[in-house]
Amino acid sequence: MEELRTDDGSVPAFAVGFVSVLAGTFLAAELLKTLSGYAGPLNDELNRAVFQFQNSSAATNGAQHYPRDNRCTACEPHNAAAKIWKQRFERFTKYSAGLSRSEI
Ligand SMILES: [Zn+2]
Repeated sequence: MEELRTDDGSVPAFAVGFVSVLAGTFLAAELLKTLSGYAGPLNDELNRAVFQFQNSSAATNGAQHYPRDNRCTACEPHNAAAKIWKQRFERFTKYSAGLSRSEI
């Protein structure tokens, strides 16, 4: 702690600016949830969230289905990278459901 402020003679103390940043982030998330009319997490059906800051009442704002572009090779289902992300998502889903890391 003393190493945080050694040059100005003030009492050592942590800055709490991150609390304001986190509070602002939560407030922004609540605003987006309220304006979108959908408060749930994105999923297979509603896989894209859009918000236009210049037009907060735009009809396109909110969660919607955004289908995969079949011409895209990066997210082709049999692509090695897509398999890795799918495995990560499945582990995350199990972890979120309450299983411990050792059970996954
Ligand atoms: Zn893609």
